[in-house]
Amino acid sequence: MTPVAIGIDLGGTNCRAALVGRQGRIGAMSRRPTRMAAGYSAWLEELAEGIEALLRQGRALGLMVAAVGMGAPGLITADGTVVTSPNLPALDGRPLAVDLAERLQLPVVVANDANAIAWGEALFGAGRDFTSFLTMTLGTGVGGGLVLGRRLWLGADGAAGEVGHWTVVPDGRPCGCGNRGCLEQYASARALAVLARERMDAGEPSALAQIAAAELTSRQVGDAARQGDALALAVLEEAGGYLGQVLGGIANLLNLDGAVIAGGAVDSFDLMHPAILRELRRHAFAVPGRRLAVVPGRLGDEAGILGAAALAGFFEQL
Ligand SMILES: [Zn+2]
Repeated sequence: MTPVAIGIDLGGTNCRAALVGRQGRIGAMSRRPTRMAAGYSAWLEELAEGIEALLRQGRALGLMVAAVGMGAPGLITADGTVVTSPNLPALDGRPLAVDLAERLQLPVVVANDANAIAWGEALFGAGRDFTSFLTMTLGTGVGGGLVLGRRLWLGADGAAGEVGHWTVVPDGRPCGCGNRGCLEQYASARALAVLARERMDAGEPSALAQIAAAELTSRQVGDAARQGDALALAVLEEAGGYLGQVLGGIANLLNLDGAVIAGGAVDSFDLMHPAILRELRRHAFAVPGRRLAVVPGRLGDEAGILGAAALAGFFEQL
């Protein structure tokens, strides 16, 4: 039987999983709501049952599942213990990899979701072109994953890559991490909608004013910008500028060859790119600034699943 892995992307709203082989995803992707109201143990059992359904699917296809990899939000140690997960607090302190491995009787790796996305792009997507790169995932927050010399850099405690909490505005907007002025308050997909709404509340005109405050999304901001809406263009310009500012510092520090912008707001990458490059060049020295290619992710929703499966140890590191 051909050995494969199961890759899982655990989000605050949904949990998606698929069988993954050396060339990428195999077959259908399963999607279930993330239900943790009944507590950790009940959720873990439901997750395990979903994985067992995929194991059966694999067997029917003549595939042997050798390992399970999961990307989960939060600070996760190298042994797959969730130290803290602000969006899924039921996981705090849980040895998730050990618990799931015991239940499934399979090797299990649990990694930070943004690291899984970075590793997915490294092996199967936009990161294939780079030796060393940073992935910035613009979603509810801004996640980060750092690949150095074709290795995922986890840091001493597994906590590396948290670029979303890089201070871009001293004493700026309050952030969920307890600090102020973090990048993710200005450049996450959620921030694009929040910043657009604030400008409208301050009296700036925009076509977006027709949309109810709670329903405004980053995609709508991007769509309005494409129609020439001045407010939407200004929000994307501001977000791109902050991304470029951070990338300038990172270019000087690490002299990376790439930065991959992923996550929900990647739809607006082309609209932010000029501001990203302008601020990158302004903040970086000429040589590392020129070297750093900033590109959109290529895998969309699948990056986390593919990366998690690969991190399960089934794939040799490149
Ligand atoms: Zn923060």
